[in-house]
Amino acid sequence: MSLTCTHGLEGLDPRSFDVICVGAGYAGATVARRLAEEGGKKVLVVELRDHIAGNAYDCEDEAGILIHAYGPHIYHTTNQRVHEFLSRFTQWLPYEHRVLALIHDTLMPVPFNHASLKLAFGEEEGERLYQKLVATFGENVKVPIMELRASEDADLARVADYVYENVFLYYTMKQWGQTPDEIDPSVTGRVPVFVGDDDRYFPQATWQGMPKDGYTALFERMLDHENITVVLSQDAREFLAVADGRVLVCGEPYAGEVVYSGPLDELFGRDLGDLPYRSLRMDFETLAMDRFQPVGTVNYTTSEDFTRITEFKNMTGQVKEGVTTIMREYSRPFVPDSGMDAYYAILSPENQALYDAYRARVEGVENFSPVGRLAEYRYFDMDGVCASALELADRLLARSE
Ligand code: FAD
Ligand code: UDP
Repeated sequence: MSLTCTHGLEGLDPRSFDVICVGAGYAGATVARRLAEEGGKKVLVVELRDHIAGNAYDCEDEAGILIHAYGPHIYHTTNQRVHEFLSRFTQWLPYEHRVLALIHDTLMPVPFNHASLKLAFGEEEGERLYQKLVATFGENVKVPIMELRASEDADLARVADYVYENVFLYYTMKQWGQTPDEIDPSVTGRVPVFVGDDDRYFPQATWQGMPKDGYTALFERMLDHENITVVLSQDAREFLAVADGRVLVCGEPYAGEVVYSGPLDELFGRDLGDLPYRSLRMDFETLAMDRFQPVGTVNYTTSEDFTRITEFKNMTGQVKEGVTTIMREYSRPFVPDSGMDAYYAILSPENQALYDAYRARVEGVENFSPVGRLAEYRYFDMDGVCASALELADRLLARSE
């Protein structure tokens, strides 16, 4: 790999670049590549962490197991444009994500499906309830739990209660500190009941898989361009600010483009208040065994303090005998300036209003573009961020013509 990065600016002058991308995750790297390649722009990518790839970063641990350092990342998309763009930088290993929930002592497929119903209610009764779901909603359809809960039919209400109690309630309390009724319905809607036999976590994805050499290698190739300079271990806020409707770089007005993928509140010293996020503690453990669990991820929906256990070898397809690494996720509130990472925006009208107030400050600043999961305060998957960044690059390229 020929990508070279410096740590810290090391004498580089950010003002000498046409474009500054803050963050080397999907948002920053996608825009950087397109503006460098198609626009011929000199792009500086500045990343706070000591590595590229943002939360998709993967690396080998001490046991030589390829791990996802910020939680399990499964590529899945229906977006052809995103897929074509990312496929320039990687081949894909076929992988279909399957998740089991440990419900009391039984492992059941999640999203809750035909097989789960029979495991929960017994063969005969499960089949009867399934036929009722099919008659009501049709086959091979997704039904969000909050929609199923609105059913007045006694059988459907029984299924809804079971799934709500045993799949969603405890897990959601652990993950968000709130009940499924209290959080934004789009969040639980990500894992709907599936009226069908498909037991994949992303049944409707046109493409799903794992990058053949890992996510970090994908990013190395994306950022490896003669017009891109990557600086790691550097907080962009040390030289970048937005004040009085203008971008300042090293204290001077900057005429180039700034593409910002960090949290917007941090850019303004959180002077309007902290944007709330959930963070995670991830406990990695290496075990002397070939395999720990039957699938990539097992969700603990009725027990334990952690939400889920991921076994990386089961997702990456890495073959290594006698050793495996697992990771337990513990959710917790994000505390600014504590060294924690902000992982999940907490979607609510109140938090959106606070975000909008920060956003209003940059709305009129033509050459400043917030993009990505943090800067847009959205629950984006990787493909959603890449799509948003591709659209932003379209606009910036059109403007510079
Ligand atoms: P990030 O990857 O967070 O990148 C932003 C970068 O900006 C960071 O590296 C940060 O260090 C840097 N930065 C911030 N502030 C500054 C600053 N002041 N100066 C310099 N740099 C700065 N998506 C999927 O599609 N499939 C999955 O299975 C999946 N699993 C996930 C599991 C977990 C636990 C989490 C948290 C997310 C998961 N995602 C998944 C979502 C995925 O991680 C994101 O959609 C994507 O990585 C976001 O890209 P981004 O560029 O917007 O942000
Ligand atoms: N969820 C749940 N039980 C599960 C799986 C998901 O309660 O077994 C809820 C929970 O609120 C979670 C949300 O659905 O935060 C979205 O789940 P997803 O697996 O998409 O979360 P992510 O992988 O993004 O953490």
